[in-house]
Amino acid sequence: MDRVDGCAVEAGTLAAALLTAEDQFVTDAVAELAVAVDLEHRAAALGDEVLLRRARLHRAGMSLRTGAFTGAAREIYDVQHWAALHGERLLEARAHGLCALVQRLAGDAAASLEHSLSAVELLDDTATEFMQIWFHTRLADALADTGAIDAARPRYRQAEEMARRTHQWELLSVLLNNWAHYEYEAGDVTRALEVIGRMTAHAAAHGLELDPPTLHTVGEIQAANGDYADAAQTMLTCIARYQAGHVEALGDLVYYRLTLARALRGLGDTGRAQENLDACRELCAELELHSILIEIHEEQADLYAARGDHASAYTELKAFIAARESLRSRERESQAQARQAMFETTEAREQAERFREQARRDPLTGLRNRRFVDEELPGLLGPGLSVAIADIDHFKQVNDRLSHEVGDRVLVQVAKLLEVGLAAAVPGGFVARLGGEEFLLVLPATPVAVAAGVLDGIRETIGAHSWQDLTGALPVTVSIGVAGSGADPLTGQSGLLAAADAHLYAAKREGRNRVVAAPAREMTSVGPG
Ligand code: GH3
Ligand code: MG
Ligand code: MG
Repeated sequence: MDRVDGCAVEAGTLAAALLTAEDQFVTDAVAELAVAVDLEHRAAALGDEVLLRRARLHRAGMSLRTGAFTGAAREIYDVQHWAALHGERLLEARAHGLCALVQRLAGDAAASLEHSLSAVELLDDTATEFMQIWFHTRLADALADTGAIDAARPRYRQAEEMARRTHQWELLSVLLNNWAHYEYEAGDVTRALEVIGRMTAHAAAHGLELDPPTLHTVGEIQAANGDYADAAQTMLTCIARYQAGHVEALGDLVYYRLTLARALRGLGDTGRAQENLDACRELCAELELHSILIEIHEEQADLYAARGDHASAYTELKAFIAARESLRSRERESQAQARQAMFETTEAREQAERFREQARRDPLTGLRNRRFVDEELPGLLGPGLSVAIADIDHFKQVNDRLSHEVGDRVLVQVAKLLEVGLAAAVPGGFVARLGGEEFLLVLPATPVAVAAGVLDGIRETIGAHSWQDLTGALPVTVSIGVAGSGADPLTGQSGLLAAADAHLYAAKREGRNRVVAAPAREMTSVGPG
């Protein structure tokens, strides 16, 4: 297998590995981050631009989930811009999905919703089933987060249908769980129970055990409904299952214990409620989970009040308010960082564009330069294209008899006359300075005979320009060699330029201030003399 085949095979294998990584429900972000780093290395080694961005986005998503907010946010926004610029729809959709997560973590529900909407809008029929279902679910979640549970419902329903139709059972259970949770948050316990009912029915029909996140939602709703004994039982099962699985996401355990504490308080078992709450607080400090700390303070205040200790309940309430304020300022900081990341990538992109534009122009005349020619001309080659090289006659004399400065001003003026003359006659054409007093004129969709006429008009205009103020008695004229790109692609760029150059040489030999458009044998020369 040669190198080219090897690369193609690796690109295919890597794309498949990436898809597996992207289309999965990640519970252990730390482990997945290691996988993602490896995928990114492989993509970098391969040098495939799109795969590299895809791998980078996946890795940034995992970095974000493991707490690296600022750097990850910047990379995610960067990939989103890149994908939009390059028309990579699905990559852009995935990037928007992660931008939504960035904004949700920063506590900006409205911005998160905007990105979730963009992600769904970008999906087309090449999107995977997983993407379809998951992005609709996330859009519903984002709507619910902004308080629009009514708008969220049809999306959840749509996602549920898709998941059932395509047998995406894990996603089905996650989305029903989210749906039930948001119904509960919105205060609609009846609807929450309904959704939970579908979830448990589904699990029973398929002989599935409810997973800890699902059990937690069930427990929350039971507690909200006043079924404390059921809620406590559910949460004990939830925690036992959680501990039996080898799950790294310890953060979830804090929530489970908190709900258990709530249920135990409801049952009047304040002792065991306190034990669980203490365990929560410890885990919370260890994992630096600021948002849940608020809920812990709140539960603690309720627990003190349940014991009749109103002084402590009051103190705890003050701690609750302080924690909420501290979270808000933390969120404001994250929002500022997210905005900064968004701004910087836009700024950097514009700056890169400016540099690239500058690098493709000649600083003296402002014309395109050789780099631009090398990048753009290959794409224009083909039948109908003509090119010309124009060279100022006896230019050395301008420098020698007047000055280099005057020479420069003549160059600038000739450049302007060439550009204006060409723009008037050939749309889509351009003039470049190849170096010194030599210019390339590119004339797309212009047969060589037509080009010769156009160029002779430009030549005449240059000669007739009033140069006296600049050069006194010295005339300024140009010689031009023209060549047409035939149907034969083998001539290529260098062949075409060599032909134009040969014709320019012929024009000089014949006496300058003229246009030559054909080989010496069948010489067509236009101009005086
Ligand atoms: P010909 O009609 O055969 O083209 O004669 P020529 O004098 O124009 O040709 P030659 O190649 O001998 O001289 C070109 C001159 O252009 C030499 C060089 O000093 C001058 N030149 C090249 N670049 C610049 C520039 O950026 N500014 C100025 N002022 N002169 C330049
Ligand atoms: Mg010259
Ligand atoms: Mg020259």
